[in-house]
Amino acid sequence: MTSILGLLLFQAMASYAFPSNLETKEKNQQLVQNYLEKFYKLNSFEELPKRKSANFIGEKIKEMQAFFHLKVTGKPDAKTLKVMKQARCGVPDVARFAVTTGNPKWDKTEITYRIQKYTTHLSKADVDMSIKKAFQVWSNVSPLTFTRVWEGEADIMISFFSGDHNDNSPFYGPDGVLAHAFPPGKLIGGDIHFDEDETWTVNHLNYNLFLVAAHEIGHALGLAHSQDIGALMYPVYSYMDINPFKLPQDDINGIQAIYGPSNSPTHPTGPETPRQCDPMLKFDAIFTLRGEIIFFKDRFLMRKHPSNPEVDIHFISTLWAGLPSGIEAAYENSDRDEVFVFKGNRYWLLKGFDVMPGYPKEIYKTFGFPKTVKRIDAAFYDEITGKTYFFVGQKYWRYNENKQSMDTDFPKQIALGFPGIGKKVDAVFKYQDSVYFFQGTRQYEFDFDKKRVLTLLRSNSWFNC
Ligand code: ZN
Ligand code: ZN
Repeated sequence: MTSILGLLLFQAMASYAFPSNLETKEKNQQLVQNYLEKFYKLNSFEELPKRKSANFIGEKIKEMQAFFHLKVTGKPDAKTLKVMKQARCGVPDVARFAVTTGNPKWDKTEITYRIQKYTTHLSKADVDMSIKKAFQVWSNVSPLTFTRVWEGEADIMISFFSGDHNDNSPFYGPDGVLAHAFPPGKLIGGDIHFDEDETWTVNHLNYNLFLVAAHEIGHALGLAHSQDIGALMYPVYSYMDINPFKLPQDDINGIQAIYGPSNSPTHPTGPETPRQCDPMLKFDAIFTLRGEIIFFKDRFLMRKHPSNPEVDIHFISTLWAGLPSGIEAAYENSDRDEVFVFKGNRYWLLKGFDVMPGYPKEIYKTFGFPKTVKRIDAAFYDEITGKTYFFVGQKYWRYNENKQSMDTDFPKQIALGFPGIGKKVDAVFKYQDSVYFFQGTRQYEFDFDKKRVLTLLRSNSWFNC
């Protein structure tokens, strides 16, 4: 078994104080070369005949750009380099990997595992629990069962190793290779090795053992990488909510394609990654940010510049470390270059892509909401009057940003202040002279001066679908 599934991490390299352009260019070339060798078979035997082609690297870059839904240019532009620097798993992204190894799977449903060698960084109890939970992720949605054994040869042998450990896939210390796994098979097949030199955790800090283990178990069961950014089997490592962890639908589809549906009487389903042209798309919160429009949905955000037809999708936590998923309301005070985001009765203050220290705070003291307000549905700021409008159920409040106090005589009925927008609002933002209200899959463009609805649009009208 020569195919190694390595979890490899590209950290931004220790930066020189003043790197010259030449140094940067050379470093980028090396990055591109290494990346394509590891994940796109740049130097592999079967690709040798094609290497004579003058633009072989360009073709490989195109493959990589297509996998990550980037603009396919064949050139290592800024966005491509950014993806190449992200933390990721070492399994190649090319489908050929699965073909050469013959779509491996276990030909039984009762699978055994054994934790052969522990890490010194976590208690044995934490390791046991992380691994057990990681197996449950897959047994919950498939006919597979996983039984732990304490001696002898199990199907999936799990160990923590440092450096070279005699399988032709040495680890390289902290932040290098995190772990690797072998596809189903005899002997080393199905085995999972974690790098002992990483800091393993049971929380949101790098690297959460449960999440890496669940990803690697996916490989040990025969799954390859997914192009779905929300999937557990996406190549790039990112922290996801683990309390409780919900296996994304894409991974459920993957494991069930190999082993069939779960025996559970209830059909398990998981969260789906939002697709920009889904006519059923709904949003949690929308706000402008320095000329862009940011759409929040679960743990994702879609980012749109009005003059650019492309829409970028990211994890919220990638752009704003520490912000939770499921943000309920947000607005930009463009005069102060501040963004406020709300979830439950708490809010965070953002400056650009920084979350300000000391947050979250409660909404009561700052904004003057009564304790009966438990959450805010939507908010927007009107820069002409310096007032912020908060929508809560069928009512709205108005806050004076200059005086830093809630205006008197509020709350009022939304139906009175915003005729045509009677019901609860999911999200709202102001752009130029219009206010855009979102209710489910509908969007209302509202003339703020004339106080009337101008047009009814689909929620995703901003995405050029
Ligand atoms: Zn992987
Ligand atoms: Zn190994």
